[in-house]
Amino acid sequence: MNAITTVTSVFPPLEIPETLAAGPGPGNTDARVLQRFAQSGLADHMQADVLRGMVECKLMLREVWGTKNIYTYGVAGTGFSGLDCMLSAILPGDTVVAFTNGTFSGIDGLAIRMKASTREELKADPLNPKPASVKIVEVPHGQSVGAEVIEQALAEHKPKWAFMAHWETGSGRINDIRAFSDACEKHGALGLVDAVSSLGIEDFSIDDYPGVVGWASCPQKGVLCLPLTYAPVSFSDRYIAEVRENGCHTYAHNPILEARHWAIIDGKDVEKGAYHRTHSGYAVAAFHEALRIILQIGKVQRAKDYAFHEAALRAAVEAMGCKVTSNMTSLVVLNLPGDLAGREMELVQNCRARGFGIWPTLSEPVQVRIGILNQLSEAAITEIVNRFADAMVELGASIDRDRISDILAQHYDRAALAN
Ligand SMILES: *Cc1c(COP(=O)(O)O)cnc(C)c1O
Repeated sequence: MNAITTVTSVFPPLEIPETLAAGPGPGNTDARVLQRFAQSGLADHMQADVLRGMVECKLMLREVWGTKNIYTYGVAGTGFSGLDCMLSAILPGDTVVAFTNGTFSGIDGLAIRMKASTREELKADPLNPKPASVKIVEVPHGQSVGAEVIEQALAEHKPKWAFMAHWETGSGRINDIRAFSDACEKHGALGLVDAVSSLGIEDFSIDDYPGVVGWASCPQKGVLCLPLTYAPVSFSDRYIAEVRENGCHTYAHNPILEARHWAIIDGKDVEKGAYHRTHSGYAVAAFHEALRIILQIGKVQRAKDYAFHEAALRAAVEAMGCKVTSNMTSLVVLNLPGDLAGREMELVQNCRARGFGIWPTLSEPVQVRIGILNQLSEAAITEIVNRFADAMVELGASIDRDRISDILAQHYDRAALAN
């Protein structure tokens, strides 16, 4: 029999230490965001400033995401909450082609299979159904989903829906959304994109990709709003027409009903929102501040900053003998040099035990992931590089620290000269 733990007294307050968040996410939340969160007063979800804040968030989000889509707003929760809302338009029996190339698109593929399954298909394997109407196209870890694979699969299957991740954080690869959007248009598929890792980092605009009708992102990566807030979503009129015609099996994540609280009703912006569920004024204020920060820096500048600092980190770890296999600008995914190969998990665990929060890959093969979300300064990158070098030395690597310092100094000096 299992022992039942009895709580005989109240636990002490939960202390969670500060760590150096240098993984794929969550990112280091900006102090301004935390301040807005803590400084907000208690107000109910229909109070005038809360509703005004939601309207302003909606407008800022359209700007950040480069879209005129009216149905652009936040879904309360994490990235998978926004994805669940976006994927809810997929109904049992719908035909779907989903491209996967790592952990997250893999999970999205599972979510799609669950939604597209008939009742019998779901019952046959409830947690991992394999509906006949869904084709999963697996691209190996470490590779991008490219034009050829996309064109071939959509031409062959002519699905109703097509799905892809924009940036696959599991393997650190950027997938070709230009080719994806074009192929969706050409073959009459409705494109859905997981943009969890690219929004707020890459400079791209939804309206340049007309083949994609649905987009979903998250609060904790490029948007930098970890205090559990809103997963941005954006839907074209074509997508909304689909939901209006066929419905979907959810109230909370219904793409049309969820939009009402953000003052989007019957396809139009209205003055103030109508009740859908209880939104938190604290969360609205934090999300609002995060969007203000992105717009104040500007998405063109942010994209440049990420590319610039990622290049510094990449050069430093390559000089330590690591092999980088990623091409995202918020993250490097690497293999350790030959003599340390196979000890990736040990190295990551050592780092994490010391509050240096890097990550392993979550699916095979095991690699190291080091991220730079909101760590866009010479000081922050130098600290990450030094702590990673310490961990390598601890495992027995010999590292020429002077050379690493020179590489970083040269990278940042060149920038200083260029300005
Ligand atoms: C992080 C991530 C997710 C999951 O987001 P959560 O906030 O953990 O729900 C989904 N897709 C991609 C591409 C991601 O990077």
